[in-house]
Formats: sequence, C-alpha cells, structure tokens
Amino acid sequence: MKIHEYQARDLLRSYGVPVPPGEVITSIEQAAPAYKAAVAEAGLGEGGLAVIKAQVHAGGRGKAGFVKLVRSAKEAEDAARFMLTNKMVSNQTGPEGLDVKKLIVAAGVDIEHEYYLAITTDRKTRRNVLIASAEGGVEIEEVAKTNPAAIIKTPLHPLLGLQPHQARTVAFKLGFKGKQVGQAIKVMTGLAQAFLAKDCSIAEINPLVLTAANPDHPDGPQEGQVLAIDAKFNFDDNATFRHKDIQALFDPAEENPAELTAHKFGLSYIALDGNIGCLVNGAGLAMATMDTIKLEGGDPANFLDVGGSASEEAVTEAFRIILSDDRVKGILVNIFGGIMDCAVIAAGIVNAAKQIGFTVPLVVRLEGSNVEAGRKILKEAANSLPTLQAAEDLGDAAKKVCGAVG
Ligand code: GDP
Ligand code: MG
Repeated sequence: MKIHEYQARDLLRSYGVPVPPGEVITSIEQAAPAYKAAVAEAGLGEGGLAVIKAQVHAGGRGKAGFVKLVRSAKEAEDAARFMLTNKMVSNQTGPEGLDVKKLIVAAGVDIEHEYYLAITTDRKTRRNVLIASAEGGVEIEEVAKTNPAAIIKTPLHPLLGLQPHQARTVAFKLGFKGKQVGQAIKVMTGLAQAFLAKDCSIAEINPLVLTAANPDHPDGPQEGQVLAIDAKFNFDDNATFRHKDIQALFDPAEENPAELTAHKFGLSYIALDGNIGCLVNGAGLAMATMDTIKLEGGDPANFLDVGGSASEEAVTEAFRIILSDDRVKGILVNIFGGIMDCAVIAAGIVNAAKQIGFTVPLVVRLEGSNVEAGRKILKEAANSLPTLQAAEDLGDAAKKVCGAVG
C-alpha cells in the first residue's frame, strides 16, 4: 500500500524527524492563502520561498514540473492551476499520466546539499538495510548505475534494528559535521523506527537536505539544519491489518477503479494496455497465458487470477471487470479444473457470459478433472453464445483469440 507525501511527512514527524510544515489544498483558490500562511510561518511575507508539490502515488514529480518553487501568491496560484488542470507524466506514471487532485503548499528551504536516505529489505542478505548517499535529489537507481561507490549500505540487525554506532558512522560518511551529526542520527533513527513499527516495504527520504546557514536571520545567525523535504512510504499489504492508522491513510482515488473492485471480490487483477482480456485461475497459469498470447502476436489487456475455485460469482465479476476496459476486443478464458470439476466451471462460465451478455469473441480452454463433460457444456452453449469458441489447448486458444481480435 502506498500513501501520499503529506501523509508520509506527518508519519516522519511523529517519529521525531524534522519536516517543514505544509498545508494540503485541493483547489486553485486555496493556493494564494496557503502560500501566505506558509511564508508567514517562516517569518516572511510576499517574496518568501514556498514550494507547491503534487500529491500523487508516483515519483519523478520534480522533473515533470509538478514540484514548483514560488515566491509570490500569484506564482503559487499559477503553479496550482497548472498542476490541478494537467495530467502529470513522469518516468513512474506511464505515458497516459495521472490526474492530480491534491497539492501541498510548504515552506521552501534554502538547500546547501541534498542527500538520499532509505530503508528497505535486501533479499540477498535477508536483512533490512539502510541505504544512504551524499548524492541525493536524483534517482538512486541512477547513482547505483553511474557511481555505486557513492551508496552506503548498512544492514540492520533483525532484533536490534539500526544501532546508534551505525547511524553515527553513516552520518560521518555522508559528511555531516558538528551539530548536524546529531540531527542526521535523529533522522536515521526515526526512519528506522517508523519502518519497523509500521511494517513498511520501503521508507525513503529523498532528498534529505542540509539547509544553507543564514547569518542574517532576524533571530540571529542560523546554522544549517538537517531536514527531510520529501518522503515516501510503502507498506507491506500482508501486514496492514495490524495498523488501523495506516489503513486510514488509504486513498481510493489513487487506485485503478477496476483493481479496487477486483480486490473486493478476492480477484487479483492488474490492468495492462493490450486488447485481449484474460480470465485465468492461478497466478502461474495467468503468467503462462499472457506469455502464450504474446507468442501468438497478441497483447494481453490484463492479468486476472480468479483464484483456485473459480466460482460462478467470481467468474461473473471477472467478466464485468475485464469488459469495463473498452480496449478489450476479445477474451481468453483459461481454467484448470483441479479440485474443481470442469463441468461446474464450464456451466459457471456459460451462465456468467449469458448474464452479462457481451459481443466480443470469447475463447475458452478447459483442462483437468471431468474435462469432457465441461467441453460438452461449452459446445452446447455455442448456440446461445455465438461468440464462444472452445479451444483444444492453450496454444490453440491463444491462436484463436489472436485471430479473432485481428
Ligand atoms: P520528486 O521529484 O517527486 O522526488 O519531488 P521532491 O520533493 O524530491 O522535489 C524534487 C526536487 O525539488 C528536490 O530534489 C529539490 O531539488 C527541489 N525542491 C523541493 N523542495 C524544495 C525546497 O523547499 N527548496 C528548494 N530550494 N528546492 C526544493
Ligand atoms: Mg524526491
């Protein structure tokens, strides 16, 4: 499960990590007052620096023009208008982009240096690992490719977590000095605690920044501070049941509506961009089906696993979900009757198809227990379901459906 940056900022704050204050807005009209409030909090007026940031479940916002530094109410409003009326297309969104419905307006900071900090699970060492780099702000994958030596990896003890001496070592390696060492340690410690306590799959601060020293501050000379100005948390879906507070952060508006419905009916559905809908039982079989369609020159419109039982209800709902994508020009049903009897499955498919009543070609491949009876039911149904074709095997099914969609 993913959350928005503003929620991640709150979570970090609750673990003692300093994050500049910000306000969430959902309309263009709110931008100017939010700008004024943000700079006022920093003791500034018009001309003060603030940052407007799109809140979407995707990164790469900066490069896409969806993180903007502004110095007036007018600029804040223009930035908000741009972000709320254009789709954001970044390297993480796909070419169709994402609608932006929420923004944060936060006090801007004067950056001296950007760092990268994250905790995730390293499958190789089977440990959680703290990843740090003094080359922050840019994508860490890029640093890993071009300058792997700039990435510091610190494995975390399964029981003790991040130990103080480890955080200290990393703070020094990142180049922090004086008071900043303690501040950086506090950030790393808070991040590590949040990661463990909330069953995260990733907790990332990019960038962590050192702000520029300000000798002319109205309250007297200010040293540079260590602050988190961007945050990302993903949570392990298998553990969110333990965290009511995290569940409450779920934003359905950020999810694909078909995937949400599928989840409700216990189906695993992932939308893809082809035109052949796939309805399969079992994740492995679903993958094999998609591969075989590709092999025949077709393009799957989705991954859909209806689960082991393939009940009539699940199949009916699955057809509905597949057909809600109007790019779908044909459907391939590939079901293996293991414990389930193929005759029951075939009857379920036929009933579901009749109930929904659709016109796109439907190719069904059945295999497994009592398959002959299942095929017979499909054959008999062909009169009332003119678009239905039975297939001999998976290869034949893929050929038929690819042929049918052209
Ligand atoms: P992302 O591109 O989605 O990761 O969004 P970020 O919040 O990380 O912002 C992208 C970049 O914008 C950062 O790496 C900074 O260089 C810049 N940025 C963000 N907030 C501020 C700010 O308050 N002050 C300054 N000077 N730059 C900022
Ligand atoms: Mg960032």
